[in-house]
Amino acid sequence: MFYQKKEKLKNKNKIFKFISSHKEFNKQSIAEALDFSFPTVTKFIDEFLKLEIINEIGFIEGKSGRKSLTYRFNPNNLLSVGIKVEVNRINLILINLNGQEIKKSEIYNNFFNDVNFVNFIVTELKKFLYNFSDYKKIRGIGISLPGIVNDITKQFEIGTNFQLFSKDMKFIEDEMQLPVYLINEANAGVFAEYILSNYIHDNLAYISIDTGVGAGIIINGKLYQGSHSQAGEIGHISVIPNGKKCSCGNFGCLERYCSNTSLVESFKNEFKLESLKLYEIFSLKLHETEQGKEILNTYISYLGSAIRTFQLIFDLNKIIVGGEICYFTDEFNFKERLKAEVFNNIFCKDDTILEFSRHGDLSNLFGAALLPFKEFL
Ligand SMILES: [Zn+2]
Repeated sequence: MFYQKKEKLKNKNKIFKFISSHKEFNKQSIAEALDFSFPTVTKFIDEFLKLEIINEIGFIEGKSGRKSLTYRFNPNNLLSVGIKVEVNRINLILINLNGQEIKKSEIYNNFFNDVNFVNFIVTELKKFLYNFSDYKKIRGIGISLPGIVNDITKQFEIGTNFQLFSKDMKFIEDEMQLPVYLINEANAGVFAEYILSNYIHDNLAYISIDTGVGAGIIINGKLYQGSHSQAGEIGHISVIPNGKKCSCGNFGCLERYCSNTSLVESFKNEFKLESLKLYEIFSLKLHETEQGKEILNTYISYLGSAIRTFQLIFDLNKIIVGGEICYFTDEFNFKERLKAEVFNNIFCKDDTILEFSRHGDLSNLFGAALLPFKEFL
């Protein structure tokens, strides 16, 4: 039974991929391309017609020269909301079935241990969707959170840099009358990168550099989360034995040196600054000073060593680095220098494996928004 259900879902995914990439099609073209029986194709076409994600556009001559009933993909008839939660910021996005952005918003606030967190999210969601006439087209809400989440109980379980009193996201579901899906931020990132690059790289990791550092992993085309949903917590690999104390309990963890927070902290300490934002390291040209260069050398060497270890374990065919730092790669030749650090041994040679995300620090936002469409993707 379970097997049958899984097979059915696989067929649905295949047909969805075909129709979303071909835009106009008939049943014959799907059956031939995917080697499916006519009744199988008909069953899913009926389901998609009911959801109005495809429309009949009339009898049009196909390749065979015969006229047949032709359909058109209509990605705007199912929509989804994504939320990315960070320690001091939330991003909201509304996308269509193609993953295209319809609307986006960004709000700054300090959420650390905020009792009113879920209330805040609901208020912002209501503002974001105020007067939105197509509310009924929204399939659900996906939320990317910086920590370990439980999507069954809708709870935010563990965050090392981020704690919440109000961990229960079920409240959002009840208030918005829409299903809510939770995902860890690095997993959201890898999910988006995998789908938005048309499933090309089936052994893929997304390294998220944000307030913390984490990795989302796809192995053989499937999200790998481990036995306790903690796979990919590379931010807590020790890079310096007996180094700085980490909130996880360990010492010398990667994220104590390479998260955005830690990088900014190093510059603040070195230049005796009261406050500093990541972008100001570059706008104030601190990265061009001797001390700044030294800090960035250390940063690249620790990050590179952790990614190298990761690659030696998983032997991936693509590693994508994402986060705000992606916007400044040209400022300090980050790409080439990180590649040189990672691919320095006989096992790690092909440096085209490493890339920086095209979505900057927003892959996880797209990943969250794609979650309610999981049944199609
Ligand atoms: Zn740690």
